[in-house]
Amino acid sequence: MHTRAAEAPTAAGAPTGAGAPTVAGARTVAGARTVAGVQTVAEPGPSRTPARARRVRPEGHRRGPLARPDASDAPPGSIVLIGGGLAAASTAQGLRDRGFDGSVVIIGDEPNPPYERPPLSKTYLSEHAAADELTLLDADRAAELELTIRTGERADALDRGAGEVVLESGHRIAADAVLLATGGTARTLPRLSGEHVHTLRTRADAERLRATLGSAERLLLVGFGFVGAEVAATARAFGVEVTAVEVDGHPFARVLGGEVAEALLSRHREAGVDLRTRTTVEACDPTREGVLAELSDGSRVEATAVLVGVGMAPSTGLAADAGLDVDDGVVCDASGRSSLPGVWAAGDVARWEHPLHGAVRVEHYDTALRHGEVVAASILGGSETYEEPHWFWTDQHEQRLQVAGVTADADDVVVHGPDHEGRLLAFYRSGEVVCAVAGIDRTRDVRGGRRLVTARATPSRSELADPDVDLRALARAHR
Ligand SMILES: Cc1cc2nc3c(=O)[nH]c(=O)nc-3n(C[C@H](O)[C@H](O)[C@H](O)COP(=O)(O)OP(=O)(O)OC[C@H]3O[C@@H](n4cnc5c(N)ncnc54)[C@H](O)[C@@H]3O)c2cc1C
Repeated sequence: MHTRAAEAPTAAGAPTGAGAPTVAGARTVAGARTVAGVQTVAEPGPSRTPARARRVRPEGHRRGPLARPDASDAPPGSIVLIGGGLAAASTAQGLRDRGFDGSVVIIGDEPNPPYERPPLSKTYLSEHAAADELTLLDADRAAELELTIRTGERADALDRGAGEVVLESGHRIAADAVLLATGGTARTLPRLSGEHVHTLRTRADAERLRATLGSAERLLLVGFGFVGAEVAATARAFGVEVTAVEVDGHPFARVLGGEVAEALLSRHREAGVDLRTRTTVEACDPTREGVLAELSDGSRVEATAVLVGVGMAPSTGLAADAGLDVDDGVVCDASGRSSLPGVWAAGDVARWEHPLHGAVRVEHYDTALRHGEVVAASILGGSETYEEPHWFWTDQHEQRLQVAGVTADADDVVVHGPDHEGRLLAFYRSGEVVCAVAGIDRTRDVRGGRRLVTARATPSRSELADPDVDLRALARAHR
């Protein structure tokens, strides 16, 4: 399908909490109504409709750096964004926000225009969000932004000589600059396949799983990462029995530390999730009703459906074929420039230099959103970099965990709680420096803690352990 328009990032997609902006600029406020798994205000905020007065494209410009590496400083006239997800949508918006008035084409291989993935394991799976609430760029908004969105089409190659993107259909699109925002695909496991086995990455995956959950007796989850844990919570809310098998002895502990991980896990146990750690699936055979799985602890589990939730693999094939540096992601500088002039990468597929965290590839919403904005500036010749700490959230059993910064660097964790409502706040220290903050239902405090992370603040352990700690004052004092 070839549409001249798709959909704008709307308030429905905007996560709040640690102060994330939305693609379309809708104002977000913590504690307002929950739509599509994230909190938003009902009314949109000030519009960020691009100012068109300033022309960025020079008259007569024909070919940019993709075709002419020697002319890599020339602004592009036509930009192709490969991958119709959040990073592509955010880049498109960012280009128009900065006054770019050349051609912008988004190529996405899914049947839908860009949409939100977080609700797929939460409100969309539980039927509390409608499909249009997921949409990031609707037809009106795409028309307003003068975007061409080609859904259901796969980009197959970059023809550097001609300065064109080649589609699987054979169609070619002229491109002075190209963004690779191809995200990734759900990893699978060799022994687990067949009609009752699911993965969860796309809207189609969620719809297929949802149809099964409606009448399922038991779901077997293989892998208990964030997506798996969210699906466990959603399935329990449906009344479906859940057995979760995880090879790690301490799920989430490596990412969050033992105490915060335990707070999440205990909520799952209370909700009736049968979590088997240090356990794998040895065999899985189809039955009339679903599957019969043999586990490494010697037990057998009959389930209506299996969800394999063992992470995603970045979609780097196109980049590798085009000769870009690839290392578990498309290797980029801090502005998203790849090793090939005229080609940028953003979102889940990009591995880039972060000033605070070093070379990273991040699979989180806020990163894809902000990365797209930075890359838009870079494509137009700017030198913005993405310097803020990472931030993500996960919703499980009506609790929201938010994390800002990189916990992996920590050698000490200062934890407040959990209190009787399960609310908790944790500061992660690397030496003297606060490198991350995490909170369960502590949105304001995570926002405050994020300031400490940004400032690389060095408050003492006892200051952080003070139950009345004033994070704003602490950030000021340690700036
Ligand atoms: C179920 C689920 C729940 C999540 N929940 C959260 C959450 O609670 N909090 C959070 O912070 N993050 C969450 N995330 C992560 C977040 O959604 C991702 O970080 C974000 O979607 C990344 O956006 P992206 O544009 O980089 O990639 P994607 O969203 O993966 O988009 C890439 C698109 O490009 C397409 N594509 C790939 N190759 C080609 C090609 N050659 N030609 C054309 N199109 C191509 C893909 O099919 C895909 O549609 C969740 C993700 C999933 C799957």
